[in-house]
Amino acid sequence: MRASWRLGRIAGIDLYVHATFLLLLAWVVFQEYSRGLAAIGGAMVYTVALFAIVVMHELGHALTARRFGILTRDIILLPIGGVARLERMPRNPRQELLVALAGPAVNVALAAVLYAVVRLTGSTPSTDLYNIDIITSTRAFLYQLVFVNIVLALFNLLPAFPMDGGRVLRALLALRMQSYARATAIAARVGRALALVLGMVGLYVWNPFWVLIALFVWMGAGSEARAARSLEPVRHPEGA
Ligand SMILES: [Zn+2]
Repeated sequence: MRASWRLGRIAGIDLYVHATFLLLLAWVVFQEYSRGLAAIGGAMVYTVALFAIVVMHELGHALTARRFGILTRDIILLPIGGVARLERMPRNPRQELLVALAGPAVNVALAAVLYAVVRLTGSTPSTDLYNIDIITSTRAFLYQLVFVNIVLALFNLLPAFPMDGGRVLRALLALRMQSYARATAIAARVGRALALVLGMVGLYVWNPFWVLIALFVWMGAGSEARAARSLEPVRHPEGA
């Protein structure tokens, strides 16, 4: 993988971080610069925790795929999140459903565990991360990660390619209609409609991040539809 560094290997899968990830770290430093060194450190820890969560999410996909005999080439961390590059997507809709759901399921499980830890160690913390008391701020930090996991699970379940929800939708449709290509075409259309709405709302409230995601989703729908069309002569022989 070009312009990326290998961080290490987890469960036999190479983990890379893309060079553009440095831009994110630079942006974090820039944002927190005026608040001092402690704030920069806190934001860095937060960013690293966020990406550890993303890695676990991607491992959820990769390890579920492995159960179906599909290997993962690598996991790459990008500023917008992670990508587990599977050798291929399972063409059995039930397997695709499980592989797609495994990522968000990891976030739901993490949210539940972190929430339990926070609640069992005291009252609901404030969201002030820069508390002088280290235990209080650690609990507040873990409490924030509960919400991070919930948001990640919900965001990834948006029914639009290349989000997991797009694959969930396609798999559910394919289970019903027995045609992978038709299921993909419908799922791609739903994804494009969602991208349009997201893009227009993003332009309206002027949130460039939303516009970027909308573009990303729009292109994802197109490439997924093309990939499925090229596959169509091969019906999934495993059935459903
Ligand atoms: Zn995912």
